[in-house]
Amino acid sequence: MVQRNTWQRDRVREELSDAPGFISAQDLHARLREQNTGIGLATVYRALSTLAAHGEADSLQSPEGESLYRACATTGHHHHLICRRCGKAVEIAATDVEEWARRTAAAHGFTEAEHVVDIFGLCADCTALRAHERDNG
Ligand SMILES: [Zn+2]
Ligand SMILES: [Zn+2]
Ligand SMILES: [Zn+2]
Repeated sequence: MVQRNTWQRDRVREELSDAPGFISAQDLHARLREQNTGIGLATVYRALSTLAAHGEADSLQSPEGESLYRACATTGHHHHLICRRCGKAVEIAATDVEEWARRTAAAHGFTEAEHVVDIFGLCADCTALRAHERDNG
């Protein structure tokens, strides 16, 4: 199977792995542009949705409704803790959530239930920074 422009997708995947956390297509495009890759924003969008569809990247909606992507270390079902300031992400298992979701779906007669649970907040570094900013007026 011959696919054109796979180097672009490989480059997007690489850059995604280098990103410290969840990142939007626009921010990823900006990073690629700094390196003069010549990869357009539309290509970045396409590459990211392909990677997400193949399970090579995680995608989620930020509280502002923006699509964010990350090359995840963990394959299979998992959850995230995400810093809404710097985008840093921690992959977490949520055993309690799995059990709760299964029970709740079953109680309503639902089968094949899926769920998306991500926690947005401020990471330890950003919390410290914010406290510092506050101290300095
Ligand atoms: Zn993940
Ligand atoms: Zn942070
Ligand atoms: Zn889960």
